[in-house]
Amino acid sequence: MDLTARAAELDAEDPLARLRAEFDLPPGTVYLDGNSLGAPPRRVADRMQRVVREQWGGRLIRSWSEGWWEAPRRVGERIAPLLGAAPGQVVVADSTSVNVFKALAGAVRLAPGRPEIVVDAATFPTDGYIATSVAELTGRVLRTADLDDLPAVLGERTAVVLANHVDYRTGRLHDMAAVTARVHAAGARVVWDLCHSVGVLPLALDALDVDLAVGCTYKFLNGGPGAPAFLYVRRDLQEAFDQPLSGWSGHREPFAMAPDYVPADGIERGRCGTPDILSLLALEAALEVWDGVDLADVRAKGLSLTDFFVACVTELLPPGTVEVLTPRDERRGHQVSLRHPGAEAVMAELIAREVIGDFRAPDVLRFGLAPLYVSHADALHAARTLADVLG
Ligand SMILES: *Cc1c(COP(=O)(O)O)cnc(C)c1O
Repeated sequence: MDLTARAAELDAEDPLARLRAEFDLPPGTVYLDGNSLGAPPRRVADRMQRVVREQWGGRLIRSWSEGWWEAPRRVGERIAPLLGAAPGQVVVADSTSVNVFKALAGAVRLAPGRPEIVVDAATFPTDGYIATSVAELTGRVLRTADLDDLPAVLGERTAVVLANHVDYRTGRLHDMAAVTARVHAAGARVVWDLCHSVGVLPLALDALDVDLAVGCTYKFLNGGPGAPAFLYVRRDLQEAFDQPLSGWSGHREPFAMAPDYVPADGIERGRCGTPDILSLLALEAALEVWDGVDLADVRAKGLSLTDFFVACVTELLPPGTVEVLTPRDERRGHQVSLRHPGAEAVMAELIAREVIGDFRAPDVLRFGLAPLYVSHADALHAARTLADVLG
């Protein structure tokens, strides 16, 4: 069957096709960078108008007691089902980098006497930078390890392992159940960075007994540029979770203005300063798009889109033109990474032709295939444009 007919057939069977209308995308653009900045759901613009006019403008400071103060927790409860988390364990605040700091330092404090922090060797850079700083501040030693080599590294010395669920460069997905069990068998804690897996596949943090997790909301969750990140702390660890950014917003009685810090009960102690309300409420609107969406459908479509995109690239490009870095089996997220020596110039040309992916130095073309708004026809168009650019 030809590729056009195949794309049409796959799109006709797509249970998520109706969601495309929820998003604002310029006509003629194929957007394959939702793994860096998700597209805006239509409802966000209207909501922000109302928030600015009615809440900020109309109610002024009264809005803090009319829903703003509780927003970090309320929006966390909206994300919880996407993480496989029961209520009361997710708060939305600060950036992923800041939450990595809180989670990692808090995890070290949960493991007194254990001198090592282990970080995933393929980690997104900010996690590694933050881990270095946490190690210095807490007097621990930082080790880097490939997640496949954890058994050789883990032991009584390990306090915590910081792991990326999906490798941001290659798109490889790690086995959360196996890694978590391995870390726990060594008596250590695990912090998962879910930036490239939240909104991609069903997660099961509670069922897998994950200790802590963080993740972005502006990638596959479409919360908007710089939307605040989430922090998950498993309920039974919360009482002992002592995160070092002891700002007033995480205080048990924030408005008592007491001289000493007493952390809030529960997940609220993950907060630090004044919540970024406009971004939080934009995210809250964006998350409504997920109501009634089955993550199993999202996963199935993401695998189908990535499979189909690789099939199109393989068929349309002369053999050996690009190297597919993303695993071909199901151990992958919803991005396809292709290696090409001229990747930077190739991506610039694709973007000039309204096929928007991204470039990761030195030679990687990344294409994120967000199942809520990308179709198989889009994937085919992108592969044809790539073949044109390289031809
Ligand atoms: C995108 C991403 C981040 C970004 O962190 P920010 O603090 O939002 O800049 C962190 N970790 C991973 C794995 C990412 O993919």
